[in-house]
Amino acid sequence: MNDMTCIIIGGGHAGLGVLKAIKETTRGMTKGRRIRFVLFDKQPGHVRKVMMFRPATSGEEIIVPWTHYCSEGVEFVQGTVTSVESGEKRIRYTDAQGNEARFRYDLLVVAVGSIVRRPDPDQGGIALTDPQAAAGIRERWRANLQKAAGETNPEERKRLMTIAVAGAGISGVETSAELALAMRKEAAALGLSLSDTSVYLLNAQERLFTGGPEKAGRKLEQTLSECGVTVLHNRKVMREEAGVVTLSNGDCLDVGLCVWTIGLIPNPALRSMGLPLTPEGQVLVDECYRVQGSPGVYSIGDCARIVDPKTGKVDQMTCFEAGIQGNRLGKIVMADLEGRPAPIHKALKNNMDAFNIGLGENRGFLWARKWGLDFIITGKLAWKAKKLVWDYASLLR
Ligand SMILES: Cc1cc2nc3c(=O)[nH]c(=O)nc-3n(C[C@H](O)[C@H](O)[C@H](O)COP(=O)(O)OP(=O)(O)OC[C@H]3O[C@@H](n4cnc5c(N)ncnc54)[C@H](O)[C@@H]3O)c2cc1C
Repeated sequence: MNDMTCIIIGGGHAGLGVLKAIKETTRGMTKGRRIRFVLFDKQPGHVRKVMMFRPATSGEEIIVPWTHYCSEGVEFVQGTVTSVESGEKRIRYTDAQGNEARFRYDLLVVAVGSIVRRPDPDQGGIALTDPQAAAGIRERWRANLQKAAGETNPEERKRLMTIAVAGAGISGVETSAELALAMRKEAAALGLSLSDTSVYLLNAQERLFTGGPEKAGRKLEQTLSECGVTVLHNRKVMREEAGVVTLSNGDCLDVGLCVWTIGLIPNPALRSMGLPLTPEGQVLVDECYRVQGSPGVYSIGDCARIVDPKTGKVDQMTCFEAGIQGNRLGKIVMADLEGRPAPIHKALKNNMDAFNIGLGENRGFLWARKWGLDFIITGKLAWKAKKLVWDYASLLR
């Protein structure tokens, strides 16, 4: 009998999670047919997106080769999927050499994720969008420090040693902390005064961590301050031009670099893929992640709008939620293949019951609420917990 082909588009945190889950629940077989798994991704390796700031600070490699994930029964195709032809049960893609091709599927999981939001081109700065942009950020601040070492004008030296990070979500917090620590290390090596290095984190809200209690926000800000980050609340970056950042309240900051970390939007490639979408551009799925009107097609992760049918709660774009969806989809696919009722989506009781942030080597912040009590842990233990999360999200543990 012919093999059944299960294609996963996107080897991000959701795609890898669901690949593992379907493989494990089906054990690679259904009704006597072998399941052939084919993972499609446009990148040459899995990008550890949650650690995007790392190449911007320490230069760490965050791309894991696909060979790490392609065990027996799993093939990898490097290609950019352009559309899903659900009537014919095939996808169209452009391969790594630029050739157009098609691939037939029996089961398809669309997990093409999100992209990092970019400011308008005339707003200046560099957005932390991908590993290449991250490497550009690192090059820039290091070149600025080199220039600062030869600069005699104290004001210009200070400007070269100042960075503004626009956007104080988890990515902005982690990026600013790691930048401050990396800059201090480099400044010390160049014989520069550490007190001249400044990292400003611009927060549009009135405090950090608005999803949790105020005292956790305060503690996070204090921990950031110990790393060398100054948080400015109620202020958005409007633009960066010629080394001057203009803020929404009219203030200006002299900076050597402005880094944008202003959130995620659903992958714009979805707009031309031929799947039903919400006005915001996420794939419309039912409570079992099935794409409406496309038999055998499922979608999870940042690219799908996933709603708890009981509470109406919408899942957020996080790798934590993507991982849970991936696990559940393994069981759903198995149930659908066997023609029995499938488990339905259930939102986490509260997204903010636990929150973990990495703030550079041996520094972290962990908040959790249990039995109505708030627990806050900082330091090495919280850092180790965050490292575990990063490794689990990329199936490295
Ligand atoms: C800097 C940063 C820090 C973050 N920190 C956290 C955190 O601490 N905790 C947390 O829970 N979440 C965090 N997030 C959010 C988290 O990264 C996302 O929620 C998660 O990556 C979603 O996983 P995904 O697989 O749905 O999508 P993605 O990770 O975006 O993966 C999508 C995959 O699809 C591939 N792809 C895209 N288009 C195509 C196409 N047309 N054809 C083929 N392949 C394609 C991409 O190459 C990619 O491999 C962070 C995000 C960023 C940017």
